[in-house]
Amino acid sequence: MADSVEFDEFVAMLRAAAAKVAGEHETLSRLDSVMGDGDHGTTMRRAMIVGLKAMDDCRARDLAVLLNDVGWAILGADGGATGPLLGTFFIGMSEATAGRAALDASGLADVFEGAVAAVRKQTKAQVGDKTMIDALVPAVEALRAAARAGEGARAALAKAAEAAERGAAATKDFRAKFGRARNLGDRSIGSPDPGATSISFLFRGFADAMAAK
Ligand code: ADP
Ligand code: MG
Repeated sequence: MADSVEFDEFVAMLRAAAAKVAGEHETLSRLDSVMGDGDHGTTMRRAMIVGLKAMDDCRARDLAVLLNDVGWAILGADGGATGPLLGTFFIGMSEATAGRAALDASGLADVFEGAVAAVRKQTKAQVGDKTMIDALVPAVEALRAAARAGEGARAALAKAAEAAERGAAATKDFRAKFGRARNLGDRSIGSPDPGATSISFLFRGFADAMAAK
C-alpha cells in the first residue's frame, strides 16, 4: 500500500482532529482565562462542530470542495479572533488540494503550506509572537522536511504533530504581541498560548488518526 492519504482517510483524519480539539475545550479555555477572556475552548469547540456538520452535509467526494465547505462554515460561525484565521486555514488547504485525489507526504506538505500561506495573509504575527503561528509554522516545516527526507505520509504527520507540540510549548516563555494577550505585556509570559495549543491538538489529531490506520 502506498503511504498516501485518499479521500475517505483524509475525511477520517479531519473528523478525528476536530473531535480531539473539541474534546480539549476545557484545557483551551483554561489557558485563555490566563491569557485572554477564557472563551477559546468554547470558540474552538463551536468551530469544530460546524466543521463536522459541513462534512456531514457535503455530498461531493472531493477534498477541495469539502475543505472549502468546512472553511466557510467556520468563517460563518461566531469565532472571535480565531474563527477567521481557522476558516482561512481550511480554505487555504482547499485551494492547495484542488485537483488532487491522493496526498503523499509531499502533497500533504503542499496542502498545509497553502493553509499557512493563507493564514499569513490575514495576520502579521511571526514565529515568537505567541500566537497560533508558533505551532503552525514549525508543524508545516517539519512536514516538508520529512517529505524531502523521503518519509511517508504517516511518519511526516507524526513529525508535524511533534513540531506543533514543541512550538506550542515554547510559547510559554514568550511575550504576546498579538490578540488580547498583548495587553498583558510581560504578564503574558509563563503560560502557553491557547491558539498555538489548539493547533498542536489539531495536528496531534491528524497524526494519531493516521497512525491508527
Ligand atoms: P479572542 O481573543 O477573540 O477571545 P480566542 O480566545 O478564540 O479569540 O483566540 C485567541 C487566540 O487567537 C490566541 O491565543 C492566538 O493564538 C490567536 N490570535 C489572536 N489574535 C491573533 C493574530 N492577530 N494573529 C494570529 N493569531 C492570533
Ligand atoms: Mg478568547
